[in-house]
Amino acid sequence: MPEAYIGLGSNLGREHEGIYESPQTQLDTALKKIAQQPQINLIKVSSFFRTNAIGPGEQPDYINAAAKVKTSLSAHQLLDFLQLLENRQGRIRTLRWGARTLDLDILLYDQIVENSERLTIPHPRLHERAFVLAPLVDLDPQLAIPNRENVSRLLASCSLQGVVKLPD
Ligand code: ATP
Ligand code: MG
Ligand code: MG
Repeated sequence: MPEAYIGLGSNLGREHEGIYESPQTQLDTALKKIAQQPQINLIKVSSFFRTNAIGPGEQPDYINAAAKVKTSLSAHQLLDFLQLLENRQGRIRTLRWGARTLDLDILLYDQIVENSERLTIPHPRLHERAFVLAPLVDLDPQLAIPNRENVSRLLASCSLQGVVKLPD
């Protein structure tokens, strides 16, 4: 079965049915939903990382993580499902790279390289983002990225400033 890596991020809590859900809770909820999807087998989840926001204006820190899955969904079907989860968890799209309750990106799908209007794999900014690479290194330091160095080497070229691994 194809193997994929999903990047998770949140820097906004939300009120849901009278209960406050923190960014950490947003990630926990998303991971639970991913694990419950019959066509997705959640293999492994990285540690959570607190990371400084890179984006427009002042934004709260993010919680970021990555997950390794095996799935019978195509990459496009997987994106459909991830966007459904984003929307269900109150994702509102305003500013590009603005604060959000949940971001679920496909980082890798096997060693496939795709550039279509809706989907670019590997994720186009993965190689330059410590907040994506640190969770990937946590999952597998040797993980290969098509046409690039492995994740450990890519992370070594990034600034680790503002990226803190949280206790498991
Ligand atoms: P970034 O792509 O820089 O991480 P973002 O995650 O905030 O930014 P979104 O608003 O979540 O961007 O997504 C914008 C569009 O990106 C989506 O509608 C989707 O079609 C497209 N997209 C392209 N490649 C991917 C990918 N690998 N994973 C998720 N979305 C992707
Ligand atoms: Mg993103
Ligand atoms: Mg996204």
